[in-house]
Amino acid sequence: MKGSVFDIQRASYVDGPGIRTTVFLKGCHMNCAWCHNPEGKRRGTQRMHFESKCLHCGKCAGVCRSGAISFVPSSGALGFSPGKCVLCGRCALICPQNAISLCGYETDSGEILDEVKKDIGFYNDTGGGVTLSGGECLDQPDFAAEILEKCKKAGISTAVDTAGDVPWESIETVLPYTDLFLYDIKCITPPLHRKFTGVGNQRIMENYRRLLSLGVGITVRVPLIAGFNDGDAESGKITAFLRENPPGRVEFLPYHAMGENKYRALGPGEPEKFSAPSQEVIGKLQAAVKSL
Ligand code: SF4
Ligand code: SF4
Repeated sequence: MKGSVFDIQRASYVDGPGIRTTVFLKGCHMNCAWCHNPEGKRRGTQRMHFESKCLHCGKCAGVCRSGAISFVPSSGALGFSPGKCVLCGRCALICPQNAISLCGYETDSGEILDEVKKDIGFYNDTGGGVTLSGGECLDQPDFAAEILEKCKKAGISTAVDTAGDVPWESIETVLPYTDLFLYDIKCITPPLHRKFTGVGNQRIMENYRRLLSLGVGITVRVPLIAGFNDGDAESGKITAFLRENPPGRVEFLPYHAMGENKYRALGPGEPEKFSAPSQEVIGKLQAAVKSL
């Protein structure tokens, strides 16, 4: 079966235990304002132009046969018309700076298995494995399940990184082949969740409790965003919820700005500005869940 992927990262230490390979499935129906993988939101290939690398040499405009790139030699001004771009990749190939890339491709589970098997020795030595992430990997549940099943048959431990806002049937599809869920809890107050992510959190909470009742391995991951969930009221609700429904492990993920350049590369416009809470707030939250 084929599915949409935008990256496969080997030697990851941040998406579950040990050394892992993270496979990023492309497409997510949510719209988290601070998303650090904006290139994973839309399914299908997208062209990215990284202005910070660009020399404004104009070579890309010279090879584009669709008239999607305009270039003014006297000023070095570049323009891009997405509606004209046919995603042929010629501009990316000619660019001497690697300032252009085409992000996202269709691939099948067999090709992914071939890639992730390269590090099987590291997984075995470190208790690592393969993590499916995104985007929302459970927006492609059958594709995700096929990858995970092949990994399990190859003796590779598996994890699924999900925001949880999917039909329970999608979770059930991957359940037999998943050793660990990395499950996002972003906030507790429903209107706040909807405002910052585009969806309510009722289904997320229901799915979480249901997974917990099955005794499945769960690490809850909480993105920490100043002005969103770092106030006493909301962070108190998060820690209270985790006390009532304790997972195997909790990780707090303070906001980082690594996604901002990718927003600009996808264009148009500037990303919304966010920041991480203070170290004091982060320390307080970590202390509050230490004894779960
Ligand atoms: S070819 Fe690359 S460096 Fe030159 S103008 Fe195009 S994007 Fe910039
Ligand atoms: S991907 Fe192809 S059509 Fe699109 S801007 Fe580059 S050269 Fe032009």
